[in-house]
Amino acid sequence: MRLDDTPESQNVEDLRDSDATGGGPMGGGFGGGSSGGGFPIPIGGGGIGLVILVVAALFFGFDPMALLGGGGGGGGGQFQPAPPQMRPPPQGQQQGTRPGQPAGRDDEMRRFVARVLGSTEEVWDQQLPRQANRQYAKPTLVLFSGAVRSACGMADAAVGPFYCPGDQRLYIDLSFYDQLARRFGAPGDFAQAYVIGHEIGHHIQNLLGILRKVQEAQGRMSKTQANAVQVRVELQADCFAGVWAFHANQRRKILEPGDVEEALTAAAAIGDDRLQRQARGYVQPESFTHGTSAQRQRWFTRGLQSGDLRGCDTFNTQEL
Ligand SMILES: [Zn+2]
Repeated sequence: MRLDDTPESQNVEDLRDSDATGGGPMGGGFGGGSSGGGFPIPIGGGGIGLVILVVAALFFGFDPMALLGGGGGGGGGQFQPAPPQMRPPPQGQQQGTRPGQPAGRDDEMRRFVARVLGSTEEVWDQQLPRQANRQYAKPTLVLFSGAVRSACGMADAAVGPFYCPGDQRLYIDLSFYDQLARRFGAPGDFAQAYVIGHEIGHHIQNLLGILRKVQEAQGRMSKTQANAVQVRVELQADCFAGVWAFHANQRRKILEPGDVEEALTAAAAIGDDRLQRQARGYVQPESFTHGTSAQRQRWFTRGLQSGDLRGCDTFNTQEL
């Protein structure tokens, strides 16, 4: 992956050296009538994380993609406050951000992440108005180590990278990239970039009002039905990641030989079927939340080949 002429985003918040559990503007916590909340949306299913969506009750009869190009919806803050679903902060840890805290290590990895984020900003700034008649609002990417407080609750690194709709932030503990390379066999810079592209995909869904619609509908569904819908949410985020990569490459020729294969390897590595087989030796499709390896590859590829958001309508297709 070639990013040397892509500007670094200014929207990276580095909490790695801080006592980050109280960090961020949403440090006041979740619920309690705050406008935050929402569910954390991690990159992979139960094999990676401890915390997955807790959803309940009825069925699926709306068309989130009708929102594309339309008015209304979107933008966070519209979510129901999420029930606390993460662990409480470890005892003895300080709350609150210290003023004047140094920005954190300015290392190579941080610059890489800032460039990938910068690339998503360039692409979506241009493409969201063009394709969906919406302005893009740049989200903040939070680097943390160990644990972090978000509007979606406390999260630790075991959750994996996630997007919180309530505060419109992406959270990444960079140790996930070591896991991705070693434990999941998916090394490489473009595999890492795909992860960010996927989380940004959730941000796009948030801006388009798709996440809100989906969560409302999931609230009336059975767990199994809600999981099936969540798979469509996740595959769409994979497809949106592909759309980003298409335009980023059009603009700055970021892709080098082997890059697409790296992303596809990563997409396969965090497919629900593979994760479940690794974790417990068998597969339980009704508990899938992110789609199979083949599905994740297919939807990423679809976005990458077309660069068109309309090609990412996972909600109105028989075959995922
Ligand atoms: Zn996701």
